[in-house]
Amino acid sequence: MRPILATISSSALQHNFSIVKQYANNAKVMAVVKANAYGHGLIDVAHALHEADAFATLNVSEAIDLREAGIDKPILLLEGPFGEDELRIAASFDISIVVHQQVQIKLLAKASLARPVNIYLKMNTGMNRLGFKSNDFEAAFNQLGSMDNVGHITLMSHFATADEDIGIAEPLKRFKAATNTLSAPQSLANSATILRYPEAHADWVRPGIMLYGASPVGGTSATGFGLQPVMQLTSEIIAVQTIESGESVGYGNTFTATKKTRVGIVACGYADGYPRHAPSGTPIAISGQLTKTLGRVSMDMLYCDLSLLPDADVGSSVELWGKIVSVDTVAEASGTVGYELLCAVALRVPKKVMA
Ligand SMILES: *Cc1c(COP(=O)(O)O)cnc(C)c1O
Repeated sequence: MRPILATISSSALQHNFSIVKQYANNAKVMAVVKANAYGHGLIDVAHALHEADAFATLNVSEAIDLREAGIDKPILLLEGPFGEDELRIAASFDISIVVHQQVQIKLLAKASLARPVNIYLKMNTGMNRLGFKSNDFEAAFNQLGSMDNVGHITLMSHFATADEDIGIAEPLKRFKAATNTLSAPQSLANSATILRYPEAHADWVRPGIMLYGASPVGGTSATGFGLQPVMQLTSEIIAVQTIESGESVGYGNTFTATKKTRVGIVACGYADGYPRHAPSGTPIAISGQLTKTLGRVSMDMLYCDLSLLPDADVGSSVELWGKIVSVDTVAEASGTVGYELLCAVALRVPKKVMA
């Protein structure tokens, strides 16, 4: 069998959950499991995070998968239902919905539902993605509060700059000013906000990336926050080439040796989710030893430098990211963030869940 594998550590997930609790001790935790739990496997992650108070996802189908796997905690659809049929399904599976625009209020007003649906009413505090403007928020709250189709209401927002120097003072002020007369629980904090802004923890926190052991904040590593990597992406060396000075490796000959070089061919490429943008020199671990990639990442293979690893050979273990090389390191070398790499791990990569 092709040796690539994503190993998912349940204990690392649980450890990271405990870090969320350390930072936001008094808040309830809604674990964000959208995008197949950031590429880690929706159902396995939900089972491992049995201490979570709720789960957040994107699609009704994912929410139903969670229900059918026996998850009976609250589940939130982060973009709300897409149309009346999904609203009816959400109600019948007791799935909560984000309400972020007037169209959805109209939908709620006319739909005939199996039971009232719980609402997260979203305010646009400056990200200008989803949500009611602060001036329209109270009216939306009152409208929803009077509807038979609406159960509990939680007030929510999401910050554009929780991971930036500028922080969240302005949007937080706007949110507080527009909600101080409204009596309802509140939810504001993604991972960066949990780690950096205790004043915005509110009643429900919504951690995503930190649960998976990657950093939401450029400049501080995940281990710096006490987090453990949950996914270890591994493979093996499947061939070795020794090239002379002046010879090149891979498509486009983008790496040319300046001395005799042993090159390991690794069974992992961009069709597995390894970023094609990772340049020569991206850290990679062979038999537990740090070395670097060489040349351009192919669809199914990439290349690494074995010059200083004379014992490495066909069959040697490779860590693309995980414990020795953090996913954030590979992401940074590739001009992106750990989020994107984790979410992009391909379906063809088998997953193994470990205690
Ligand atoms: C994805 C998402 C989160 C989780 O964000 P992280 O940065 O991964 O912690 C929280 N809230 C909303 C609305 C989201 O879309």
